Amino acid sequence: MERPRAVLLLLLGLLCLLEAGSGLPAQSGSLKRKKKKKGSSVELRLLNESQAGSGSSASGPDYLYLALRRYLNNQELTEWLQSYEKRCKSIARLTKIGTSAQDRPLWALEISDRPGQAEAEPAVKYVGGVHGDEPTGRVLTLALAEWLCANYKTDARAKRIISTMHLWLLPAMNPDGFDARSRGNSAGQDLNRDFPDRFSSPPMEPSGSEQPETKAIMDWTLATGFVASASMHEGALVANYPWDGTDDRSTRYEACPDDAVFRHLATLYASTHKHMASPDNAEFPNGGTTNGANWYPIYGSMQDWNYVVGHCLELTLELRWDGAGPGRERWM
Ligand SMILES: [Zn+2]
Repeated sequence: MERPRAVLLLLLGLLCLLEAGSGLPAQSGSLKRKKKKKGSSVELRLLNESQAGSGSSASGPDYLYLALRRYLNNQELTEWLQSYEKRCKSIARLTKIGTSAQDRPLWALEISDRPGQAEAEPAVKYVGGVHGDEPTGRVLTLALAEWLCANYKTDARAKRIISTMHLWLLPAMNPDGFDARSRGNSAGQDLNRDFPDRFSSPPMEPSGSEQPETKAIMDWTLATGFVASASMHEGALVANYPWDGTDDRSTRYEACPDDAVFRHLATLYASTHKHMASPDNAEFPNGGTTNGANWYPIYGSMQDWNYVVGHCLELTLELRWDGAGPGRERWM
């Protein structure tokens, strides 16, 4: 287990690094090449820092610019992912894992040195856009993909991620909600309350009425066999871990059997983040982590289902407390 865990830790740290620069100005317009102003944004400076360390050149600065400059709409996201698969074909494979209730594709980008092949390596996933009005994860997954493509030949950390694991990025679990600027999907269902739950009867059994987006995640998770995962949200600044629910619905610390491992992973993420573990993080001043049920219990959560049924250690990352970062007002 040492190697998978080491890779996961590295990856979590990397996402923290990218997240630190995610203040995104929004623009409207179609997916086309835009003139880049040198050093004009935090996002580009972050990439350049990575490249300076590795000596590599960008795989396509305009694509990175597009990924980070604003929230791509659903059609643009599809085009971006398809272009990424072509540009970075030796490490990337794009898979449609299902469709949303309104028939939009749910894209998963597999990144590895042997994409599409079964290997004895841990599979790890990042899921963005569970809630349609929380688009930060949608951007971070693309930024991570771009950083890997630009640096995997020269940067030791990027190389290790590519060669020792299968990384899967799903930028938008809820494209219909993104399009409508709504938390739930097109049926108004909160997808992070839609998974089979350990307190339903029978426990963790699908009801059959799960939304298409939820079913797609379940099928994909079971088919792939992930060891670890994180979903990305907004509205707080905290790394949240199971359990999410309590048997009597009271708010209290509800430790799962792997509580120590989860606390370790959540602490690792939070402490690598620029702000999450800071005492200035008023809601979570003691390290920026929380047990889900100790914050507020929920039922039908994705992380509890992943843990029990998917055998996958999933964190729920709340990546910005304001819920209204730069650019968001204009996007909304
Ligand atoms: Zn959320």
